[in-house]
Amino acid sequence: MTRTYKPAACYELVRLSDGVVLGRIRRGVYQATGETPCNVQPYSGTVCQIDERYAIKLRSAGVLGYLDGLQVVTDHGECLQLRQIPRPWNWESLDDPDAYRAFRDVARVLLETGRPDIKRLDLKVAAAPFDTCPACNDHYGFAEGCVECAGRGFVPEVVAPA
Ligand SMILES: [Zn+2]
Repeated sequence: MTRTYKPAACYELVRLSDGVVLGRIRRGVYQATGETPCNVQPYSGTVCQIDERYAIKLRSAGVLGYLDGLQVVTDHGECLQLRQIPRPWNWESLDDPDAYRAFRDVARVLLETGRPDIKRLDLKVAAAPFDTCPACNDHYGFAEGCVECAGRGFVPEVVAPA
């Protein structure tokens, strides 16, 4: 299962060749390592969509790279990787699994019945810190009895290091 970029989540941008962390992305805002935010330069760049692809767009000069899943390929052909990190504890999000499931199920029903007004609900569900279970892929037939997600069909997006 290819993991995709989630605008509401947090990532480190890692250079694969030497493991150096080049920067962090929090809710679509890119901050390069070593660049201190100030009034003139409060952030290094943003993650935005260009030609239907996500790209890290720098404030200073052009595009750092385009996303392919969680991989970032720069103009020079260098391979960088987004590594998801836990969100700050004080961020407000739909982090209760039972509430998340309820919202998700309601969103699905509304979608299946062709309701046009689910955009906000959909956004709320998409912004929650959960991912589809990698073991059962939230498949109706497999989720039940799945050890990975305890039958829920989803798992926490990042498990904080113990
Ligand atoms: Zn599962």
